[in-house]
Amino acid sequence: MTTVVIYILQFIGALIIWSLVSYTLHYVSHMKFKNNLLWKTHKHHHLNKYEGKRTLPEWKNFFFWFGSWGKTGDVLILYTIPALTISFLIGGGAYFLIIFHYIYEVFLADEALEHNKKIGKPITNFLAIGQYHMLHHQKIIGNYSSIFVIWDKLFKTEIKH
Ligand SMILES: [Zn+2]
Ligand SMILES: [Zn+2]
Repeated sequence: MTTVVIYILQFIGALIIWSLVSYTLHYVSHMKFKNNLLWKTHKHHHLNKYEGKRTLPEWKNFFFWFGSWGKTGDVLILYTIPALTISFLIGGGAYFLIIFHYIYEVFLADEALEHNKKIGKPITNFLAIGQYHMLHHQKIIGNYSSIFVIWDKLFKTEIKH
């Protein structure tokens, strides 16, 4: 195999593992037990109101600051630390995951893609964005996946939409 193919496979593998790890962390964040530290940070993500107004990132976002310690910490715990760890462990093409994560969080995670109510089926049959993820905000229980919806389907935590 050529190096390019290996790099692409390493990136895809890292992306899938990352998606599973963030699903798990998000799932645990919503578990009801005493002193759930993950929920203490993740609840700040649920304070956001998505009204379809903002489309461009604020300058602070470029420096990975999302408005408060809670919101920034939530991104770091659920996505950044896993992305760095997985990239470091796999190496090679997996490092592109860090770039992907940066672009996703700064440009797409707000109302452009992840919280864009206009995005629905058939895209949301595969990707955990738009109406699929907004259902998680409405119901709080279910639809924990990020990027790929496969984990909700596999572990039966999907909200039918
Ligand atoms: Zn959540
Ligand atoms: Zn959200």
